[in-house]
Amino acid sequence: MTVVEMGIPAVRSGRPSLDGRPDTPYLLDRFGRVGRDLRVSITEKCSLRCTYCMPEEGLPEIPRHELLTADEIVRLVTLAVEELGVREVRFTGGEPLMRRDLEQIIAGCHEHVPDTPLAMTTNGVGLAHRAYDLAAAGLHRVNVSLDTVDRVDFATLTRRDRLDSALAGIRAARAAGLTPVKVNAVLMRQTLAGAPDLLRWCLDEGCELRFIEEMPLDADHEWARANMVTAAEVLEVLGARFELSETSRADPSAPAEKWLVDGGPATVGVIASVTRKFCDSCDRTRLTADGMLRSCLFSDQEFDVRQPMRSGADNHELATLWRGAMWQKAAGHGIDAEDFSPPERTMGAIGG
Ligand code: SAM
Ligand code: SF4
Repeated sequence: MTVVEMGIPAVRSGRPSLDGRPDTPYLLDRFGRVGRDLRVSITEKCSLRCTYCMPEEGLPEIPRHELLTADEIVRLVTLAVEELGVREVRFTGGEPLMRRDLEQIIAGCHEHVPDTPLAMTTNGVGLAHRAYDLAAAGLHRVNVSLDTVDRVDFATLTRRDRLDSALAGIRAARAAGLTPVKVNAVLMRQTLAGAPDLLRWCLDEGCELRFIEEMPLDADHEWARANMVTAAEVLEVLGARFELSETSRADPSAPAEKWLVDGGPATVGVIASVTRKFCDSCDRTRLTADGMLRSCLFSDQEFDVRQPMRSGADNHELATLWRGAMWQKAAGHGIDAEDFSPPERTMGAIGG
């Protein structure tokens, strides 16, 4: 199997150019955006196989020596916060709960950057057993990905019969104070009719539900714009059961567009990541599980921070590398362009 087939770009750029970059410590790009929100993928492994994300057999294993260790992750997160102006850190994957040292990673980050919110995106499977320990380690909140509350639909979409474990995980997260618990659902044709039931469940459980348009980041390359369920479609389906009224966006960099449900205060979000792109206000920077810096989900451009770190680079050198990586960030995802082609890495290999 070649590296490209594994979903990892074959060509990794060397040192990024800083030409024309103003002298600022922050993660500035050429379009005036500043990276404040760090997504850290910590594994390629997952307990589910969502069809819009993973291949049936899962992603190829990252060789152990290429995976960032807990100490390396803590060092890079600390650097990002202290030297680069990152304000929020979210752990993702693959499935972050697949790492046994997750509590250690969280505790290490919390110890070094105690004032920075630490969040996690998870499928919730097995979370019930770890929610309290994760909260005690310093995790602030979780987003749980859940597309349906119908057991058969869940098993079909995720290729695993684990709905009960996911629901138990969400309840445990709330009980452990990992709040607000947000539930993210990818809009799929098979689960669209069940969207009102999912919203009802989230309202009853005190979780904020957000629907997300499916992006062309699936390992099976089945995504097609023509088949994609749009934000407008889910609003129509939800509107048949609930009264929805639009709210204004408090934070312009927040992708969710919120709707009050039945007069509020509960809301439902619809993230139209494809049909109403929000690249102009993107404040993300990303670190992959094998130690690559990425500035955009959709660009194959990434910069190796693992190798310099393991070769003894000091914090100043690593910070310069990260600033340069951000300075190369593309203007937008280009999904609508005729020559658009999806990135080599799929969502599970980048970290959503
Ligand atoms: N396993 C964890 C989970 O599912 O929450 C974290 C990793 S997962 C890659 C992060 C997020 O990406 C999830 O909310 C998932 O629904 C979303 N995602 C995966 N593939 C996607 C796609 N093709 N389009 C849009 N969102 C996607
Ligand atoms: Fe696993 Fe999350 Fe991808 Fe589903 S979306 S296959 S839970 S990484």
